Amino acid sequence: MYKFPGSVHSKLPKVGTTIFTVMSKLAVDQGAINLSQGFPDFPVSPHLVDLVYKHMREGRNQYPPMAGIPRLREVISAKQESLYSAQYDPETEVTITAGGTQAIFTAIQATIGEGDEVILFTPAYDCYAPAIELVGGKPVYVQLNSDDYSIDWRQVKKLISRHTKMIMLNTPHNPTGATLTSKDMKELIKITKGSDIIIMSDEVYEHIIFDGQEHQSVSRYKELAERSFVVYSFGKTFHVTGWKTGYVLAPSNLMAEFRKVHQFNVFTANAPIQYALAEYMINSDNYMSVAAEYQRKRDVFLSAVEGSRFKVKPSKGTYFQLLDYSTISDEADTELAKRLTIEHKIASIPVSVFYHNPVQNNVLRFCFAKEEETLLRAGEIISSI
Ligand code: GLN
Repeated sequence: MYKFPGSVHSKLPKVGTTIFTVMSKLAVDQGAINLSQGFPDFPVSPHLVDLVYKHMREGRNQYPPMAGIPRLREVISAKQESLYSAQYDPETEVTITAGGTQAIFTAIQATIGEGDEVILFTPAYDCYAPAIELVGGKPVYVQLNSDDYSIDWRQVKKLISRHTKMIMLNTPHNPTGATLTSKDMKELIKITKGSDIIIMSDEVYEHIIFDGQEHQSVSRYKELAERSFVVYSFGKTFHVTGWKTGYVLAPSNLMAEFRKVHQFNVFTANAPIQYALAEYMINSDNYMSVAAEYQRKRDVFLSAVEGSRFKVKPSKGTYFQLLDYSTISDEADTELAKRLTIEHKIASIPVSVFYHNPVQNNVLRFCFAKEEETLLRAGEIISSI
């Protein structure tokens, strides 16, 4: 209806609408099974929902403290200690955020400036580079090895300069489902030793990891923990992506800078949900059971697509599975993802959009955070392609 009469200077001229929104909308418009954007289609724990309701009814509906309610920060700190032997002071080193994306954005705002370089591994989750560019920082891209999406540390070493301010990690990795190992962590310790490089570790899928692997949190390693922001998401762990609640851990001097921005960015996160989560997380089964649940779903999906013409390497973590279509089609993945949604009624995410350079690996990402019935129906369609 209206149009700004002046000239609009775009701060992100090359950025369009995120692929997750584009593909989910196409899936809805086409009545397709939506395995594109990552979100569960199964119900949330009724107990957790009851707890939110209880705290709302009991009147916990006003602003919580800026950094989050103390009880939740204490529970998080205890969890981090018991899982990774990492010590974070709930008072000064834990902050509750409006989801992982906000935590990442705020940490970058707080620490990166004009001309600072940030090393990113591609394919990279799509919120990283814009957050860096908005503060005048420069993303420096390192492509993950194309066979197993592992990191070539020699290349990282070559790209580190006196301008390198941050390295961004993501394990378990979205969109590929790869995981980092303790060997990777040791390389990272060597590479950053004696430097002022900050690590941003996106670990939102920490509890979605398969086949007996142990999640390699940077917080397990003192030399890394002391230079890292570590980001987590309740949405991923408790199947509540729409609640947009997460948290960040960092040493107190980094966290002090984070909070300076956080207080003016969102000020704080949703109160009743924080009270509910603090209570719900007392029972560690509520998060420790998640890996097995998702491994079952991954395996249902894998057997459902076993007879298909797609090539598969089982996902090691996250709720995403890549399927390689190189023996089926030579179309660009963006085209194929659209065509499969329209013609076959199955939506996925093309992986090429997460690269900086045009790379065509001929893979599509499918989300298996779905009811078994959805996965079986999806498997039938995929097997018919
Ligand atoms: N993390 C989700 C995914 O990878 C998407 C979140 C979003 O839509 N921004 O699919």
